[in-house]
Amino acid sequence: MSGLDASAHPCLRCGACCAHYRVSLHWSEAAPELGGQVPPELTEPLRQHERVMRGTSHGQPRCIALDAQIGVYSRCTIHALRPAVCAALTASWEFGEASHQCDRARIAHGLPPLTPADWPAR
Ligand code: SF4
Ligand code: SF4
Repeated sequence: MSGLDASAHPCLRCGACCAHYRVSLHWSEAAPELGGQVPPELTEPLRQHERVMRGTSHGQPRCIALDAQIGVYSRCTIHALRPAVCAALTASWEFGEASHQCDRARIAHGLPPLTPADWPAR
């Protein structure tokens, strides 16, 4: 991907959190028979009631559903079906306050934390 609009959502130029944290979810989120939407084949067992996105449970996490060059472009290939924990991780200053999870992931990938200036009026 190239030529992203500079005013595009900062996450579309990042992806750091999807390649930093273990992404665990309740097993029912990946159980279609219970209405779960996360594709089960993209997950693996973790603890008794949990599964984890493949690729995120080892030393250098990178979610199997991530299509990204960290810091350049990023997209979640299952965005509408992603686990609740992913939807809950907000980007710093998107909603008026810093997000430590966002900041930590970006710093770990050599990116500066977002600031309010990264959110031009839209
Ligand atoms: S680390 Fe922050 S800016 Fe980067 S993709 Fe995650 S939420 Fe978005
Ligand atoms: S499911 Fe999508 S949003 Fe969640 S960690 Fe994987 S790539 Fe990121």
